[in-house]
Amino acid sequence: MATGSGMRTLEEWLEEAAAFHGHLCPGQILGVRMALLGCRLLGLNPEDPADRRRLIVYVEIDRCLTDAIATVTGCRLGRRTLKHIDYGKAAATFVDTRTGQAVRIVARDDARETALHLAPPGLSKAAAQRHAYRIMSDEDLFRIHRVQVAIPPEDLPGHPLRRVFCARCGEGINDGREVIQNGQVLCRACAGEPYYTPLEAPR
Ligand SMILES: [Zn+2]
Ligand SMILES: [Zn+2]
Repeated sequence: MATGSGMRTLEEWLEEAAAFHGHLCPGQILGVRMALLGCRLLGLNPEDPADRRRLIVYVEIDRCLTDAIATVTGCRLGRRTLKHIDYGKAAATFVDTRTGQAVRIVARDDARETALHLAPPGLSKAAAQRHAYRIMSDEDLFRIHRVQVAIPPEDLPGHPLRRVFCARCGEGINDGREVIQNGQVLCRACAGEPYYTPLEAPR
């Protein structure tokens, strides 16, 4: 099946996605198709390195489909081009940083049901989804809307804009993630938002 946005077929993208992710799950198919659709709606070719460099993607979940989106778009957490917004939703927003155009795509909750009806009987749920997610229309898989994303300068790729040190733990903090409390510069952990409980001081 041709993807419409380049020379690569859906199956070729899926092969690459499965290699990166570790297995070919329904989420890989959904994520590859979501990313191809996002690129197409923005008029960008995911096979063109110049087009890929224009993309920033906000993913709203840290599950299988996130890896597939990273494969197709080339966006990476470590390059600040893949942003995880922890909404727990199978959704992502694709931003063209050159034009400012952005489109948010949400996987339809009823796509799972549709998939089970479309697949040949006797398949497991996952196998049915793997079959159907390849052939279902974009409209049956996704809801789409244009959105606007104001990306703060301190969230953009490139060198850190600034770096300060926490007055309590002394650790360095990049790009404005510090908190000012009673006139003190603190990291978010020391300011009262730790995700960990220290069992000992760092050595
Ligand atoms: Zn998976
Ligand atoms: Zn601190």
